[in-house]
Amino acid sequence: MIMAQTLDVLFIAAHRDDTEIVCGGTVIKLVDLGYQVGLLDLTAGEMGTRGTAADREAEAAEAARLMGIAYRENLGLPDAGLRNIPEYQQRTVTVLRRLRPQMVVLPYWKQRHPDHREAGNLGYDACYLAGLQKYFAPGDPHRPTRILYSSNLRDVRHSFLVDISAQFERKLAAVAAYRSQFGTREGAREIFNPGVDIFEFMTTSARHLGHQIGVNYAEGFTIKEYLAVEDPLKLTGRSI
Ligand SMILES: [Zn+2]
Repeated sequence: MIMAQTLDVLFIAAHRDDTEIVCGGTVIKLVDLGYQVGLLDLTAGEMGTRGTAADREAEAAEAARLMGIAYRENLGLPDAGLRNIPEYQQRTVTVLRRLRPQMVVLPYWKQRHPDHREAGNLGYDACYLAGLQKYFAPGDPHRPTRILYSSNLRDVRHSFLVDISAQFERKLAAVAAYRSQFGTREGAREIFNPGVDIFEFMTTSARHLGHQIGVNYAEGFTIKEYLAVEDPLKLTGRSI
């Protein structure tokens, strides 16, 4: 798709549709706020049970259009074979140095699916290596200043929640663009979380998080560092 110059935010995920499912509402919100937002899918999904990698490519392009993002790229690393190894780090660093995002969003570091876990580790190391002067990758050194981890897992303690009430319907539409995956009732119930309809899952989990901050729908993010607060009285939300 369209070539971006540089990005404000880059979402990195193992598979096409991962970002949409876990934090697509925040992607759309950042676009709404006027930021240059891009997605990097690390694999092409050639191991997926339903549909072909070509189907998913067309569906990912449609989802990108629905979300309004500036850029989407597929790195073509092996599906079900993602590893945090020097060769893949170097390819990820090359993208980071070209797109120069200020913020990078990665999958949460503890995951059941090895690709999801490795995507987080690979992304984190690539963000560091991209800033090294002498690292062997094309482009000028660049290190993002902020890394967020996205997760829709139940047992994750989020650092903060993003209100996506105004974006929630568009998030569902972006996920529905993956017709080969979720276009049938069986697909919607089997692929993501066996026995659970993915649209219902996204709705209940976003609703649950939203209620924690007094809005309709929200998505959660975790950071490893502390946030510095200048004026504690200007923190949004309430404690009781
Ligand atoms: Zn995935």
